[in-house]
Amino acid sequence: MKPAPFGFAKARSVEHAIALLGEHADARLLAGGQSLIATLNMRLSAPKLLIDINALDELKRIAVAGDWLEIGALVRHAEAERSPEIARHAPLLALALPHIAHPAIRNRGTIGGSIAYADPAAELPACLLALGGELVVASKAGRRVIKADEFFKGLFETALGPGDVLTAVRVPVAGADSRHGFAELARRHGDYALVGLAAAARAGGKTLRDVRLAFFGVGATAIRAPTAEAAVALGTDAVAALARDLDPEGDVQASAATRKHLAGVLLRRVVVQLAEPRA
Ligand SMILES: Cc1cc2nc3c(=O)[nH]c(=O)nc-3n(C[C@H](O)[C@H](O)[C@H](O)COP(=O)(O)OP(=O)(O)OC[C@H]3O[C@@H](n4cnc5c(N)ncnc54)[C@H](O)[C@@H]3O)c2cc1C
Repeated sequence: MKPAPFGFAKARSVEHAIALLGEHADARLLAGGQSLIATLNMRLSAPKLLIDINALDELKRIAVAGDWLEIGALVRHAEAERSPEIARHAPLLALALPHIAHPAIRNRGTIGGSIAYADPAAELPACLLALGGELVVASKAGRRVIKADEFFKGLFETALGPGDVLTAVRVPVAGADSRHGFAELARRHGDYALVGLAAAARAGGKTLRDVRLAFFGVGATAIRAPTAEAAVALGTDAVAALARDLDPEGDVQASAATRKHLAGVLLRRVVVQLAEPRA
């Protein structure tokens, strides 16, 4: 199938992109196009105007600012995967990035596109939840920062409004006591995960504190598992506790019971990773 006819504009700056969004009621930003173009081709969406933001160099930076690592929305997955700053300051992202799709898609797909699209089985939204990350958003009203905990609202639904441009994601710089874990199960490497888990914690003597477990592929958005988090911190049976946190639905890929079982398997693996000191 071919897309419905649409107009095309190249944004010269973030302000220009915001102005174009304001002038056209049914416009959509085009980043890597790896999700958007597929939905156009399948006529799942038919915006009247695509606003190409690929020339905006101001959205391509990776930099440490105080206690935060800021990653521009237009940083490609492949660039992030090779970034020494991300490897050093956000090791959880470095663990997760190679699981996103295939190299050809990672060469074009962007960090901002992935977060804005908010697929419930995507890796990066879960990583941001686990890390207590933030999203930097620009609009006609100015710049605002939204916590990841408040950003993912529902199935493919976020706190972004029609006039918003996501400019960057921010995660706290990892310290010597930071611990991370990541695991996912997909039918083939590069497929969206059936179930996945991104986790962060701090080492405190022989125990862990500030445990944040973010599961993906088990609901409409990536979700935290507070009962299991408390169990991991206390060193009690986290897999048993997890039953109280997750209520996945079954689909053609896996039944609800299978997803729950797989989530427990992943949790067991990630608890082992969290106990290991940083390399
Ligand atoms: C075969 C295949 C397998 C894939 N597997 C995975 C996977 O395993 N895990 C995974 O996470 N992803 C996967 N993806 C998706 C891939 O990661 C995409 O790159 C990503 O979802 C979208 O990024 P993009 O830059 O291509 O965004 P686009 O497709 O350009 O845009 C996606 C949406 O986000 C909006 N948007 C983009 N940038 C911004 C911005 N800065 N501000 C506001 N809105 C914005 C667009 O308007 C659009 O609505 C897969 C894709 C394909 C085709």
